[in-house]
Amino acid sequence: MRIILLGPPGAGKGTHASRIEKDFGVVQVSTGDMIRSAIKNKTDMGKKANEYVQAGKLVPDDIVIGIVKERLLQDDVKDSFMLDGFPRTLEQAKALENILEEWGMHLDAVLYFDVNSDEVVRRLSSRRVCENCQATYNLISMPPRQEGVCDHCGGKLIQRTDDRPEVIKQRLETYEEQTRPLVEFYESKGLLHRVVSMGSIEDVAERVKEFLAGLNA
Ligand code: AMP
Repeated sequence: MRIILLGPPGAGKGTHASRIEKDFGVVQVSTGDMIRSAIKNKTDMGKKANEYVQAGKLVPDDIVIGIVKERLLQDDVKDSFMLDGFPRTLEQAKALENILEEWGMHLDAVLYFDVNSDEVVRRLSSRRVCENCQATYNLISMPPRQEGVCDHCGGKLIQRTDDRPEVIKQRLETYEEQTRPLVEFYESKGLLHRVVSMGSIEDVAERVKEFLAGLNA
């Protein structure tokens, strides 16, 4: 299965990617996670990317396309993958199309997590992540068992610097301008599947599971 998870920040892509990984054994490829790890490790790419991430803007296409291409050459994603947070521009979508065509592969579906912007702001402001293992929590809908402590590894929970209100606003503008056009792009290719990402996580997970089970059948 080769799929893309599309949607605004806070739509639930990361949360559902972890569940899909468990339920269907598809490896999650998150450009956001790769970029954050490069920033943490102060690599050359990380140093270049940092200013864009902190400003709520997109990291330049050539950098992101490069890291995705390199990642997709690895063995664990040879037969199936789930892209989370990529593509985010038409340029990236076209580059991905060319790469897959060159490798004789095709996408099976693009899951579009549809959610309104009030809900996105509410989710992002209450999101916390483990600084150690990157597990994600939500103070309202998915709180940790013990306040401030990761259930999985005992690490400290922090707020992502780009989940601050002023950066959230910019990220949503960036999404509207640069990423939303991908909905139409994939719709025109007959690949888009809309998932209403409102209501409980369990309800959304059920919708996702039902669709992917059909895809796998
Ligand atoms: P995310 O964790 O997916 O919300 O990504 C966090 C930040 O990483 C974004 O706000 C961007 O600055 C950067 N980023 C992640 N994926 C991409 C992408 N496909 N293209 C450009 N920038 C990206």
